[in-house]
Amino acid sequence: MFEVKFQPPTKKTSIMELVFATHNLNKVIEVQDMLSSHMQLVGLDQLGFNQDIDEDGLDLASNAQIKAMHIYGVFGKNCFADDTGLEVDALNGLPGVYSARFAGEQKSDKDNIELLLSKMKNKSNRKAQFRTVICLVLDGEQHLFDGVIEGEITTEPKGSGGFGYDSIFIPKGFDNTFAEMDAYTKNAISHRYLAFKKIVKHLNALNTI
Ligand code: IMP
Repeated sequence: MFEVKFQPPTKKTSIMELVFATHNLNKVIEVQDMLSSHMQLVGLDQLGFNQDIDEDGLDLASNAQIKAMHIYGVFGKNCFADDTGLEVDALNGLPGVYSARFAGEQKSDKDNIELLLSKMKNKSNRKAQFRTVICLVLDGEQHLFDGVIEGEITTEPKGSGGFGYDSIFIPKGFDNTFAEMDAYTKNAISHRYLAFKKIVKHLNALNTI
């Protein structure tokens, strides 16, 4: 006779490490704050990877996929990458995938805002949305998520917080720009938050955390 040992099912409580394919430590911290403590994010600089990955995709999803698959190819680690754009209705969705370098390769927030406001000068339709697309690579398999927040473009910059186009974007249902809000308020409603909530839900459903 042999003895069959009964192993009760165990709930996974180990920490899952995920690489966030970004050099921006602020973004790593912002997203880490949104995640369960069972998930530990590691940024590219912490991995000692200091190259820039070419973001030459034609849309946000392609850029996220390019970055995530590049890092998965180099390190073989589960990872994700995001790409965000501000899509302005009156500009047919621009700056969109070109948001970072709208006014040129110097990637200046100030220049980008100036250019955008000049293109919006006589436009009555001020509707716009921030969109974040995330590509998560788990064991080589890609999963896409997005988060969208609608709002309006102001006629001039307001507020000093945040970054990028925050000072000219008022989210729907609010009176202030993202740059006038404290980080806690912005992070609780942002496009990035909405996209990351979807990843967390996905990982929970897979019982990987
Ligand atoms: P990235 O994909 O996160 O690097 O974002 C691309 C560009 O979109 C940035 O350079 C910013 O100009 C803009 N952007 C991204 N996220 C935000 C945000 O939360 N607020 C304002 N601008 C943003």
